[in-house]
Order: sequence, then structure tokens, then C-alpha cells
Amino acid sequence: MSRACTVLSKEQILVGGVVSVVDKEKCAACLSCVRICPYNVPVIDAEGAADIEIARCQGCGICASECPAQAISLQHFTSEQINAKSRALLETINGAQRPLRQHKPPEPPPSAR
Ligand code: SF4
Ligand code: SF4
Repeated sequence: MSRACTVLSKEQILVGGVVSVVDKEKCAACLSCVRICPYNVPVIDAEGAADIEIARCQGCGICASECPAQAISLQHFTSEQINAKSRALLETINGAQRPLRQHKPPEPPPSAR
């Protein structure tokens, strides 16, 4: 409650310039964006399509990269750009994990054989 009062007491509220926008004609109401958003922003509205409240969206792009209908786009970014960013992130993560997967456990001491 006190955090909400702090926010509401400000004359201006700045939000990120990049937000996700839903093309409701393409939305299949699969709930992927609703489930995956780390900020719990997307909801299914009365018309049965996803709705993203712009003021609450952090513009992380996770929902846009996961939407199977490609119904979500980040303002100022195309789907191809978001997919390229997602691929680069996954490659970075996989690259970081590769040495761990190749790691061999140490040999047990001779007394334990
Ligand atoms: S992930 Fe895409 S298709 Fe699924 S509910 Fe969200 S906007 Fe609609
Ligand atoms: S861009 Fe990020 S914060 Fe905004 S609705 Fe999608 S997953 Fe949530």
C-alpha cells in the first residue's frame, strides 16, 4: 500500500519507451504470454484476446519471442530483430554451459575402487 501511495504521489511517472503490443486479430488466446511474463502483465480480455497494459509492460520482449501466433511485437522492434536477440541470448547461455557439460568428474581415490 505504501509503495502504491509513493508511486501515485508523483506528478509524472516514467515508463520504458519500448513496450509490447498485441495484434488481437492474430491472438489465439493460448495463454503463453500470460504464463511467461515475469511481471504478470498480459491478461485475456473480454473479447478473448491478450491485452498488455502499456504502463506496466517492462519491454523485456519475452512474450513477443514466445508467442506462437507472432501476435506480439515490441514497439520499435520487428519480430526478426527480437528473434535475433533471443537466438543470441540462447547461444550465449549455451556457450557458457558447454564447458560444464564437458566437465568430467574427478577419479575416485584408489582406496575407494
Ligand atoms: S502468446 Fe500470443 S497467441 Fe498466445 S495469448 Fe499471448 S498474444 Fe495471444
Ligand atoms: S514485454 Fe516483458 S514485461 Fe511486457 S508483457 Fe511482455 S513479458 Fe511482460
